[in-house]
Amino acid sequence: MKEQLADILDQVLRRNPGEREFHQAVREVFESLEPVLRKNPQYVDAAVLERLCEPERQIIFRVPWVDDEGRVQINRGFRVEYNSALGPYKGGLRFHPSVYLGIVKFLGFEQVFKNSLTGMPIGGGKGGSDFDPRGRSTGEVMRFCQSFMTELYRHLGEHTDVPAGDIGVGGREIGYLFGQYKRITNRWEAGVLTGKGLSWGGSLVRTEATGYGTVLFAERMLATRGASFDGRRVVVSGAGNVAQYAIQKAQQLGAHVVACSDSTGYVLDERGIDLPLLQQVREAERLPVSVYAERRGATFVPGRRVWEVGAEVALPCATQNELDEDDAAALVRSGVLAVSEGANMPTTPAAVALLTEAGVLFAPGKAANAGGVATSALEMQQNASRDAWTFEYTEQRLAGIMHGIHDRCLATADEYGAPGNYVLGANIAGFTKVADAMLALGVV
Ligand code: NDP
Repeated sequence: MKEQLADILDQVLRRNPGEREFHQAVREVFESLEPVLRKNPQYVDAAVLERLCEPERQIIFRVPWVDDEGRVQINRGFRVEYNSALGPYKGGLRFHPSVYLGIVKFLGFEQVFKNSLTGMPIGGGKGGSDFDPRGRSTGEVMRFCQSFMTELYRHLGEHTDVPAGDIGVGGREIGYLFGQYKRITNRWEAGVLTGKGLSWGGSLVRTEATGYGTVLFAERMLATRGASFDGRRVVVSGAGNVAQYAIQKAQQLGAHVVACSDSTGYVLDERGIDLPLLQQVREAERLPVSVYAERRGATFVPGRRVWEVGAEVALPCATQNELDEDDAAALVRSGVLAVSEGANMPTTPAAVALLTEAGVLFAPGKAANAGGVATSALEMQQNASRDAWTFEYTEQRLAGIMHGIHDRCLATADEYGAPGNYVLGANIAGFTKVADAMLALGVV
C-alpha cells in the first residue's frame, strides 16, 4: 500500500508541476491514509484517491478593470470546482497578490475534507485572484469585483457553486459580487454567495464563525487534558476576520490575548488586545497593526513573527506556512499546550512534527477552522427557508458542529490506533465520507 500511495503521489506531483502548496497539502493527507486504504481496498480499486486529486473543473479567466487614474489593469481570476460528491462546490474567494493556481488548488483540496468533516451537504471548491485590494479605493475594489463576477457568474448557482470570503474578501467585496450577480442574472438568489450582509440575506455569527470555531475546537481539545482557556496567555497571528474573532472568543473564555500581527510585523500588548480599537484600525480605517500599537501605547515589532512572544495557546490565523520549525521550537520552549489552526495550512510539516513530538495538542485547520464554512451552510439553510435565526441559536449550532468535528477526529484517531492525533483523525474522517459518496455515485 505504501508503494501504491507513493506512486499516486508521484503522479500528482508530475501532473501539477510547480504547485508547491498543492503538493504539500496532498502529501500531508496521503501520510494519514495508508491504514484506511488497507482496510478498504474498494477505494483503491475505484481509484478514489486519483480522482480526489484531480479537480472536477478548473476555471482561469482574465479580469480587466479600470483604476482611478483611468489606466486599464489586468488580473487573473480562478475558480477550482474541486469535488461535488457531497453537495454544491463550496469555498471562499481569496484576493491576494500571491494567488496562483497552486494556492487555489491547495485550498480547494483542503476544503473537500473540511466540508466533509462538518457533516453538512457541501462539496469543495475555492477561487480568487492575484488582485491586491490593499491601497485600492472603494471604487476600484467595486469595479474589480464587478468585472470578476461578470465572468464567474456563469459557473455559479445555489445548487452548483457557492463562494464566500477568504483573505482580502470580506463583507464589502461579497456585497459588490452579489450585486453584480443579481444584476446579470436578474435573480435575487440569496444562496449563491455566503458571508452576505445581515440586511440582505446574511446570517448572524457568520462573520465571527471561523475565529469562534477555532477557539471552541481548542477549548474542547484542552478539556481532554483537564485544561481551559481561563487565565491562559494566548498569541494570535493575523489581524483580519479570523484573528479578530478568535481573539474575541478567547477573551470571552477568560484568556489573556497579548499579541496579534499582520504582514508588516506584530503587536505585543501585555495589557491584553483591545479588540474594538483593533477593529477600528483594521476594519474601519484599513490600516496596519502598527497604528494600533501607536494609539494603544503597545509595542510594535516590525518584520518579525508573533510566535517569538511565547504562549500557552497559539492560534495561527493569517496564512499558509507562517509557523515554521523555529517558531514551533520557540513555542515549545515557552510551554505551549495547544496550537489550533484558524488559517489554512499555517503550520509547516516540520513544525507539526516538532509540536506533536513535544506532546502539544495540535488541531489542523481543516478541522479547527471548519466553523466558517459550516456557518455558511447554516446561512444557506436560512436562505432556502427564507428564515433568519437568532445569534444565540446560530452560535449554539456552531458550537455543536465544532464539538462534533472534534469528537469525530478524536474517535477516528483512536479507531486507527493513533490516540490524540487530530491530523490523522481529521484526514481519515474527512476522506471516508467523500470516498463513500464517490463510490456510490460511480465513475463520474
Ligand atoms: P483577512 O484578509 O481578513 O486577514 C488576513 C490576515 O492575515 C491579515 O492580518 C493579513 O495581513 C495577514 N496575512 C495575509 N497574508 C499574509 C502573508 N503572506 N504574510 C503575513 N500575513 C499575512 O483574511 P481571513 O482572516 O479571512 O483569513 C485568514 C486565514 O484563515 C486564511 O488562511 C484563510 O484561508 C483562513 N480561513 C478563513 C475563513 C473565513 O471564514 N474568512 C474560513 C476558513 C479559513 P495584511 O493585511 O497585512 O496582509
